[in-house]
Amino acid sequence: LAKEKGKNCYQFYNSSLNDQITRKMNLESGLRRAIKNNEFILYYQPLVDLSTGDIVGMEALIRWKHPKLGVVPPSEFIPLAEETGLIIPIGEWVLKAACKQIKDWHDKGYHQMSIAVNISVRQLQKKDFVKTVKKVLQETGLEAKYLELEITEGIMLDVDELLTILNELKEAGIKISVDDFGMGYSSLSVLKHLPIDILKIDKSFVNGIVNDERISTLVKTIIDMGSSLNFSTIAEGIETREQADFLTRNRCNIGQGYLFSRPLPANEAEKQLEVIKRYGV
Ligand code: C2E
Ligand code: MG
Ligand code: MG
Ligand code: MG
Repeated sequence: LAKEKGKNCYQFYNSSLNDQITRKMNLESGLRRAIKNNEFILYYQPLVDLSTGDIVGMEALIRWKHPKLGVVPPSEFIPLAEETGLIIPIGEWVLKAACKQIKDWHDKGYHQMSIAVNISVRQLQKKDFVKTVKKVLQETGLEAKYLELEITEGIMLDVDELLTILNELKEAGIKISVDDFGMGYSSLSVLKHLPIDILKIDKSFVNGIVNDERISTLVKTIIDMGSSLNFSTIAEGIETREQADFLTRNRCNIGQGYLFSRPLPANEAEKQLEVIKRYGV
Protein backbone atom coordinates (compact mmCIF):
# COMPACT_ATOMS: atom_id res chain seq x y z
CA LEU A 1 0.00 0.00 0.00
CA ALA A 2 2.76 2.43 0.95
CA LYS A 3 4.52 1.74 -2.31
CA GLU A 4 1.39 2.33 -4.35
CA LYS A 5 0.61 5.64 -2.76
CA GLY A 6 4.17 6.89 -2.87
CA LYS A 7 6.41 8.13 -0.13
CA ASN A 8 3.80 10.36 1.48
CA CYS A 9 2.42 7.27 3.12
CA TYR A 10 5.39 6.53 5.29
CA GLN A 11 3.89 8.37 8.24
CA PHE A 12 1.25 5.68 8.61
CA TYR A 13 3.84 3.08 9.29
CA ASN A 14 4.24 3.78 12.95
CA SER A 15 4.84 0.78 15.13
CA SER A 16 1.33 0.56 16.52
CA LEU A 17 -0.20 0.25 13.07
CA ASN A 18 2.44 -2.32 12.28
CA ASP A 19 1.49 -4.22 15.40
CA GLN A 20 -2.14 -4.12 14.38
CA ILE A 21 -1.40 -5.41 10.92
CA THR A 22 0.82 -8.16 12.26
CA ARG A 23 -1.87 -9.15 14.75
CA LYS A 24 -4.51 -9.25 12.06
CA MET A 25 -2.30 -11.41 9.85
CA ASN A 26 -1.57 -13.74 12.74
CA LEU A 27 -5.24 -13.99 13.60
CA GLU A 28 -6.20 -14.69 10.02
CA SER A 29 -3.70 -17.47 9.48
CA GLY A 30 -4.54 -18.81 12.95
CA LEU A 31 -8.24 -18.86 12.16
CA ARG A 32 -7.63 -21.27 9.33
CA ARG A 33 -6.18 -23.81 11.73
CA ALA A 34 -8.27 -23.10 14.80
CA ILE A 35 -11.11 -25.53 14.17
CA LYS A 36 -8.81 -28.42 13.42
CA ASN A 37 -6.72 -27.63 16.49
CA ASN A 38 -9.75 -27.41 18.76
CA GLU A 39 -9.01 -23.85 19.78
CA PHE A 40 -12.63 -22.72 19.77
CA ILE A 41 -14.86 -23.24 22.75
CA LEU A 42 -18.45 -22.30 23.41
CA TYR A 43 -19.51 -20.46 26.51
CA TYR A 44 -23.14 -20.48 27.59
CA GLN A 45 -25.12 -17.66 29.16
CA PRO A 46 -28.49 -18.38 30.81
CA LEU A 47 -31.73 -16.91 29.49
CA VAL A 48 -33.98 -16.32 32.47
CA ASP A 49 -37.77 -16.17 32.52
CA LEU A 50 -38.33 -12.83 34.24
CA SER A 51 -41.67 -13.85 35.73
CA THR A 52 -40.47 -17.10 37.35
CA GLY A 53 -36.68 -16.86 37.54
CA ASP A 54 -36.29 -20.17 35.71
CA ILE A 55 -33.54 -20.72 33.20
CA VAL A 56 -35.39 -21.33 29.95
CA GLY A 57 -32.45 -21.44 27.61
CA MET A 58 -28.83 -20.60 26.96
CA GLU A 59 -27.08 -18.45 24.39
CA ALA A 60 -23.96 -20.02 22.91
CA LEU A 61 -21.09 -17.52 22.67
CA ILE A 62 -17.88 -18.47 20.95
CA ARG A 63 -14.42 -17.97 22.47
CA TRP A 64 -11.08 -18.51 20.79
CA LYS A 65 -8.21 -19.73 22.93
CA HIS A 66 -5.32 -18.72 20.72
CA PRO A 67 -2.13 -20.64 21.59
CA LYS A 68 0.01 -17.49 21.66
CA LEU A 69 -2.36 -14.56 22.06
CA GLY A 70 -4.61 -16.02 24.73
CA VAL A 71 -8.37 -15.51 24.61
CA VAL A 72 -9.41 -13.50 21.55
CA PRO A 73 -12.93 -12.01 21.86
CA PRO A 74 -15.51 -12.64 19.14
CA SER A 75 -15.75 -8.91 18.45
CA GLU A 76 -12.21 -9.17 17.10
CA PHE A 77 -12.25 -12.41 15.14
CA ILE A 78 -15.85 -12.78 13.94
CA PRO A 79 -15.55 -9.78 11.56
CA LEU A 80 -12.31 -11.29 10.26
CA ALA A 81 -13.98 -14.67 9.83
CA GLU A 82 -16.77 -12.95 7.91
CA GLU A 83 -14.29 -11.11 5.68
CA THR A 84 -12.39 -14.28 4.84
CA GLY A 85 -15.38 -16.60 4.51
CA LEU A 86 -14.08 -18.73 7.38
CA ILE A 87 -17.31 -17.93 9.20
CA ILE A 88 -18.92 -20.70 7.16
CA PRO A 89 -16.99 -23.61 8.69
CA ILE A 90 -16.75 -21.83 12.06
CA GLY A 91 -20.49 -21.16 12.10
CA GLU A 92 -21.23 -24.76 11.27
CA TRP A 93 -18.97 -25.91 14.08
CA VAL A 94 -20.78 -23.57 16.51
CA LEU A 95 -24.18 -24.82 15.44
CA LYS A 96 -23.22 -28.44 15.82
CA ALA A 97 -21.45 -28.01 19.15
CA ALA A 98 -24.30 -25.94 20.61
CA CYS A 99 -27.05 -28.33 19.52
CA LYS A 100 -25.07 -31.27 20.84
CA GLN A 101 -24.60 -29.59 24.21
CA ILE A 102 -28.24 -28.68 24.69
CA LYS A 103 -29.31 -32.16 23.65
CA ASP A 104 -26.95 -33.52 26.26
CA TRP A 105 -28.58 -31.26 28.88
CA HIS A 106 -32.01 -32.44 27.80
CA ASP A 107 -30.86 -36.02 28.21
CA LYS A 108 -29.65 -35.19 31.72
CA GLY A 109 -33.14 -34.06 32.62
CA TYR A 110 -33.00 -30.33 31.94
CA HIS A 111 -35.92 -30.47 29.57
CA GLN A 112 -37.50 -27.71 27.53
CA MET A 113 -34.39 -25.60 27.43
CA SER A 114 -33.66 -23.82 24.20
CA ILE A 115 -30.34 -22.93 22.63
CA ALA A 116 -29.72 -19.58 20.96
CA VAL A 117 -27.03 -19.52 18.30
CA ASN A 118 -25.67 -16.38 16.60
CA ILE A 119 -25.71 -16.53 12.82
CA SER A 120 -23.80 -14.26 10.45
CA VAL A 121 -25.31 -12.90 7.30
CA ARG A 122 -22.65 -14.74 5.31
CA GLN A 123 -24.07 -18.00 6.61
CA LEU A 124 -27.65 -17.04 5.79
CA GLN A 125 -26.63 -16.17 2.26
CA LYS A 126 -25.23 -19.63 1.58
CA LYS A 127 -27.59 -21.56 -0.65
CA ASP A 128 -27.44 -24.66 1.51
CA PHE A 129 -27.85 -22.93 4.88
CA VAL A 130 -31.26 -24.36 5.71
CA LYS A 131 -30.10 -27.79 4.65
CA THR A 132 -27.06 -27.50 6.90
CA VAL A 133 -29.19 -26.55 9.89
CA LYS A 134 -31.56 -29.45 9.30
CA LYS A 135 -28.63 -31.82 8.97
CA VAL A 136 -27.20 -30.63 12.29
CA LEU A 137 -30.56 -31.14 14.01
CA GLN A 138 -30.81 -34.61 12.59
CA GLU A 139 -27.27 -35.56 13.55
CA THR A 140 -27.59 -34.26 17.09
CA GLY A 141 -31.15 -35.45 17.61
CA LEU A 142 -32.28 -32.04 18.86
CA GLU A 143 -35.88 -31.07 18.17
CA ALA A 144 -36.11 -28.01 15.94
CA LYS A 145 -38.32 -26.08 18.33
CA TYR A 146 -35.45 -25.78 20.81
CA LEU A 147 -33.20 -23.99 18.34
CA GLU A 148 -33.25 -20.20 18.11
CA LEU A 149 -31.17 -18.57 15.42
CA GLU A 150 -30.09 -15.02 16.29
CA ILE A 151 -29.67 -12.71 13.37
CA THR A 152 -28.76 -9.05 13.70
CA GLU A 153 -31.11 -6.43 12.56
CA GLY A 154 -28.48 -4.64 10.52
CA ILE A 155 -28.02 -7.55 8.19
CA MET A 156 -31.43 -7.39 6.62
CA LEU A 157 -30.31 -8.38 3.13
CA ASP A 158 -32.76 -8.08 0.43
CA VAL A 159 -36.14 -8.44 2.13
CA ASP A 160 -37.48 -11.00 -0.33
CA GLU A 161 -34.36 -13.09 -0.08
CA LEU A 162 -34.49 -12.94 3.70
CA LEU A 163 -38.18 -13.75 3.76
CA THR A 164 -37.64 -16.90 1.71
CA ILE A 165 -34.89 -18.18 4.01
CA LEU A 166 -36.74 -17.32 7.21
CA ASN A 167 -39.92 -18.98 5.95
CA GLU A 168 -38.01 -22.17 5.22
CA LEU A 169 -36.53 -22.12 8.70
CA LYS A 170 -39.91 -21.48 10.23
CA GLU A 171 -41.44 -24.35 8.28
CA ALA A 172 -38.73 -26.57 9.71
CA GLY A 173 -39.87 -25.48 13.19
CA ILE A 174 -36.80 -23.38 13.99
CA LYS A 175 -37.17 -20.07 15.83
CA ILE A 176 -35.76 -16.73 14.73
CA SER A 177 -34.57 -13.94 17.03
CA VAL A 178 -33.62 -10.46 15.98
CA ASP A 179 -30.46 -9.71 17.96
CA ASP A 180 -29.33 -6.24 19.06
CA PHE A 181 -32.77 -4.89 18.27
CA GLY A 182 -32.82 -1.11 18.04
CA MET A 183 -29.28 -0.77 16.74
CA GLY A 184 -29.89 -1.43 13.07
CA TYR A 185 -31.97 0.06 10.35
CA SER A 186 -34.82 -2.33 9.88
CA SER A 187 -38.10 -0.58 9.96
CA LEU A 188 -41.05 -1.87 11.89
CA SER A 189 -42.96 -2.22 8.66
CA VAL A 190 -40.35 -4.71 7.44
CA LEU A 191 -40.29 -6.57 10.73
CA LYS A 192 -43.99 -7.17 10.78
CA HIS A 193 -43.76 -9.12 7.51
CA LEU A 194 -40.99 -11.40 8.67
CA PRO A 195 -41.65 -14.68 10.48
CA ILE A 196 -39.83 -13.62 13.63
CA ASP A 197 -40.38 -15.17 17.04
CA ILE A 198 -38.18 -13.14 19.36
CA LEU A 199 -36.86 -9.60 19.72
CA LYS A 200 -33.67 -9.15 21.69
CA ILE A 201 -33.45 -5.63 23.01
CA ASP A 202 -29.88 -4.40 22.72
CA LYS A 203 -27.89 -3.97 25.90
CA SER A 204 -27.22 -0.31 25.21
CA PHE A 205 -30.95 0.32 25.83
CA VAL A 206 -31.03 -1.81 28.94
CA ASN A 207 -28.09 0.18 30.20
CA GLY A 208 -30.09 3.42 30.00
CA ILE A 209 -33.34 2.12 31.45
CA VAL A 210 -33.01 3.40 34.98
CA ASN A 211 -31.53 6.86 34.47
CA ASP A 212 -32.78 7.95 31.11
CA GLU A 213 -36.48 8.51 30.79
CA ARG A 214 -36.42 8.63 27.01
CA ILE A 215 -34.73 5.27 26.89
CA SER A 216 -37.08 3.69 29.40
CA THR A 217 -40.04 4.95 27.37
CA LEU A 218 -38.51 3.53 24.23
CA VAL A 219 -37.92 0.16 25.86
CA LYS A 220 -41.50 0.00 27.10
CA THR A 221 -42.65 0.76 23.56
CA ILE A 222 -40.47 -1.98 22.11
CA ILE A 223 -41.84 -4.52 24.61
CA ASP A 224 -45.45 -3.52 23.90
CA MET A 225 -44.92 -3.57 20.18
CA GLY A 226 -43.20 -6.95 20.44
CA SER A 227 -46.04 -8.47 22.39
CA SER A 228 -48.68 -7.04 20.09
CA LEU A 229 -46.90 -8.62 17.13
CA ASN A 230 -46.67 -11.86 19.13
CA PHE A 231 -42.90 -11.73 19.52
CA SER A 232 -41.35 -12.82 22.72
CA THR A 233 -39.00 -10.17 24.14
CA ILE A 234 -35.55 -10.73 25.59
CA ALA A 235 -33.49 -8.00 27.22
CA GLU A 236 -29.74 -8.49 27.04
CA GLY A 237 -27.03 -6.97 29.22
CA ILE A 238 -28.99 -6.83 32.49
CA GLU A 239 -26.47 -5.94 35.15
CA THR A 240 -28.54 -4.57 38.03
CA ARG A 241 -31.57 -5.56 40.04
CA GLU A 242 -33.19 -2.21 39.15
CA GLN A 243 -32.94 -2.98 35.45
CA ALA A 244 -34.39 -6.46 35.99
CA ASP A 245 -37.25 -5.04 38.07
CA PHE A 246 -38.10 -2.44 35.47
CA LEU A 247 -38.14 -5.04 32.70
CA THR A 248 -40.21 -7.49 34.74
CA ARG A 249 -42.72 -4.78 35.66
CA ASN A 250 -43.07 -3.87 32.01
CA ARG A 251 -43.61 -7.50 31.00
CA CYS A 252 -40.41 -8.20 29.14
CA ASN A 253 -40.43 -12.00 28.93
CA ILE A 254 -36.82 -13.02 29.29
CA GLY A 255 -33.62 -11.53 30.69
CA GLN A 256 -29.96 -12.18 30.09
CA GLY A 257 -26.97 -10.52 31.68
CA TYR A 258 -24.24 -10.49 34.30
CA LEU A 259 -26.85 -10.01 37.06
CA PHE A 260 -27.92 -13.60 36.47
CA SER A 261 -24.73 -15.09 35.14
CA ARG A 262 -21.78 -14.34 32.92
CA PRO A 263 -21.26 -16.63 29.95
CA LEU A 264 -19.65 -19.81 31.31
CA PRO A 265 -18.00 -22.95 29.94
CA ALA A 266 -20.44 -25.87 29.64
CA ASN A 267 -19.49 -27.61 32.87
CA GLU A 268 -19.94 -24.43 34.89
CA ALA A 269 -23.13 -23.46 33.07
CA GLU A 270 -24.45 -26.90 33.97
CA LYS A 271 -24.00 -26.11 37.67
CA GLN A 272 -26.31 -23.12 37.21
CA LEU A 273 -28.96 -25.50 35.92
CA GLU A 274 -28.76 -27.62 39.01
CA VAL A 275 -30.34 -24.91 41.09
CA ILE A 276 -33.85 -24.32 39.86
CA LYS A 277 -35.31 -20.88 40.42
CA ARG A 278 -31.92 -19.81 41.62
CA TYR A 279 -32.46 -16.25 40.56
CA GLY A 280 -35.79 -15.79 42.31
CA VAL A 281 -36.91 -12.82 40.24
P1 C2E B 1 -24.47 -10.78 21.13
O1 C2E B 1 -24.98 -11.93 20.37
O2 C2E B 1 -25.32 -9.57 21.22
O3 C2E B 1 -24.11 -11.37 22.56
C1 C2E B 1 -24.25 -10.67 23.75
C2 C2E B 1 -22.91 -10.14 24.22
O4 C2E B 1 -23.13 -9.40 25.42
C3 C2E B 1 -21.89 -11.23 24.58
O5 C2E B 1 -20.61 -10.72 24.27
C4 C2E B 1 -22.07 -11.34 26.08
O6 C2E B 1 -20.94 -11.87 26.73
C5 C2E B 1 -22.30 -9.91 26.43
N1 C2E B 1 -23.03 -9.75 27.70
C6 C2E B 1 -23.89 -10.59 28.28
N2 C2E B 1 -24.40 -10.08 29.42
C7 C2E B 1 -23.84 -8.87 29.57
C8 C2E B 1 -23.96 -7.84 30.58
O7 C2E B 1 -24.69 -7.95 31.56
N3 C2E B 1 -23.22 -6.71 30.38
C9 C2E B 1 -22.39 -6.56 29.31
N4 C2E B 1 -21.70 -5.42 29.20
N5 C2E B 1 -22.25 -7.50 28.35
C10 C2E B 1 -22.98 -8.65 28.48
P2 C2E B 1 -19.52 -11.63 23.56
O8 C2E B 1 -19.61 -13.03 24.08
O9 C2E B 1 -18.21 -10.93 23.65
O10 C2E B 1 -20.01 -11.65 22.06
C11 C2E B 1 -20.03 -10.48 21.31
C12 C2E B 1 -20.73 -10.67 20.00
O11 C2E B 1 -20.01 -11.57 19.15
C13 C2E B 1 -22.12 -11.29 20.13
O12 C2E B 1 -23.04 -10.31 20.52
C14 C2E B 1 -22.33 -11.81 18.73
O13 C2E B 1 -22.74 -10.79 17.88
C15 C2E B 1 -20.92 -12.23 18.34
N6 C2E B 1 -20.79 -13.69 18.52
C16 C2E B 1 -20.53 -14.42 19.64
N7 C2E B 1 -20.52 -15.75 19.39
C17 C2E B 1 -20.80 -15.87 18.06
C18 C2E B 1 -20.93 -17.00 17.18
O14 C2E B 1 -20.85 -18.17 17.56
N8 C2E B 1 -21.21 -16.71 15.86
C19 C2E B 1 -21.36 -15.43 15.40
N9 C2E B 1 -21.61 -15.24 14.11
N10 C2E B 1 -21.24 -14.36 16.21
C20 C2E B 1 -20.97 -14.57 17.52
MG1 MG C 1 -26.67 -12.94 20.28
MG1 MG D 1 -27.25 -9.13 21.21
MG1 MG E 1 -25.10 -7.36 21.11
